[in-house]
Order: sequence, then C-alpha cells, then structure tokens
Amino acid sequence: MDHDSNNIMVILSSPSGAGKTTIAKKIQQKYQTFKISVSHTTRKPRPNEIDGVDYYFITHEKFKKLISEDKFYEYAKIFDNYYGTSKETVDQMIKKNDIIFDIDWQGTQQLSKFKNLKLIKIYLIPPNKNELKQRLIKRNQDSPQEVERRFKAYDNDIRHWKDYDHIIINDNLENCYKQIEKIILISKDTSTKDSQNTL
Ligand code: ADP
Ligand code: 5GP
Repeated sequence: MDHDSNNIMVILSSPSGAGKTTIAKKIQQKYQTFKISVSHTTRKPRPNEIDGVDYYFITHEKFKKLISEDKFYEYAKIFDNYYGTSKETVDQMIKKNDIIFDIDWQGTQQLSKFKNLKLIKIYLIPPNKNELKQRLIKRNQDSPQEVERRFKAYDNDIRHWKDYDHIIINDNLENCYKQIEKIILISKDTSTKDSQNTL
C-alpha cells in the first residue's frame, strides 16, 4: 500500500452499538478532507442503509471471488457475514483524503501489519453494558436475535482494547466526539509537520 502523503488513517473500533458509525459520520460531516472507507459486506442492508454509501452490499460468492483475487487489504467474518476493505477504495481515497475506517479488531490487526501506514487506532467503549444494550435496541435496525448476538459479542470484542492507541468512553456523545476530534487534529498536524521535515 503506497502511502507517502500526509493524509492519515483513523481506525474506529468498538463493541457493536457503542457509537462508532455515529462518530465517524460526525467527523466526515465537519471535515471535508475526512472520508469514511466504504467496506464490502455480505450482510443484508438495514432499512436506512444505501448501497455504495454505507457499504457495498454483495453476495457471499462475489466476496469469495474478491478474496481469491486478492482485492482486500483486510477482511473478517463477523456475525456470520464477511466484511472487508477493498484495496481499490483505499488507494483512491488516500490520494486526496484522510480516511476513517469503521472496522473490527481483526481488520485492525491486519492493517497494522502495513508498517508504512500512519494509523491512529481508537477503541470506543460504552459507559456500561446496560447502556450498550439500550443503544442496540434503540437503533432499531436489527432483529431481537441479532441485537442479542451483538450484545453477547461484547466480552470477546473488548478483550482487544490493548491493540489500540486511544481508548475513549462514549458516554456523552459531544464529549466523546470532542476527544476524538482533538486526537485526529493533533495527529493530522503531526503528520503534516513530519512530511514537511522530510522534504
Ligand atoms: P456502532 O456503529 O458502534 O455499532 P452506532 O453509531 O450505530 O454504533 O450507535 C448505536 C446507537 O446508539 C445509535 O442509535 C446511536 O444514535 C446511539 N448513540 C451513539 N452514541 C450515543 C451516546 N453517546 N449516547 C446515546 N446514544 C448514542
Ligand atoms: P455492522 O453490521 O454493525 O455494520 O458491522 C459489524 C462489525 O463489522 C462492526 O464491528 C464493524 O466495525 C465491522 N466492520 C465493518 N466493515 C468492516 C471491514 O471492512 N472490515 C472489518 N474487519 N470489519 C468491518
């Protein structure tokens, strides 16, 4: 992966329902240079999701074909579906934009193997498990079985917090957003200064 510009890559991971999509969208809305990486998935679209915007929704067969053609920088099987970051998407975006990845700990470990990337790894946690459950229910986009499954995955997911540079509690949304905004602005500034120093 070629990455010699001063653009940065921010990874947001969390147990499902902790708020990473909400935060990623807020960053993208405020900062023109930040774009969310659109992943491919075999999961079915939720009622409010748009193909090509939230995900590229594809079949298992197509996903397997893309794996065999080495089209992903990383991919993982999560809740019985495949999710992956295509090389084409990232290579196009990074030329002009900073990228936000909404990916899980498995994808984070795979991207971390690319030592030349300026990755900022942020792990979001909910204030407590009850609140997480309420958010999964309130989101009202998954079946009760799917909500339960995502909730049960919390304990395994949170074991991976140590792989991240920053751990942020998403209790009050604005507070959480401000902490993340500060981290990415400092990282961007450092990256810009570093690349100027090497010119
Ligand atoms: P994730 O992408 O991590 O699965 P979402 O961003 O979809 O999580 O958030 C899950 C639900 O919780 C959404 O309905 C969202 O509006 C809500 N939410 C996110 N952050 C907060 C917060 N700080 N306080 C209350 N609700 C929140
Ligand atoms: P959801 O079904 O709620 O949209 O996403 C389920 C999980 O898949 C979340 O933890 C999300 O971060 C993760 N995910 C989404 N896209 C990707 C991807 O491209 N790669 C990996 N490894 N995980 C992803």
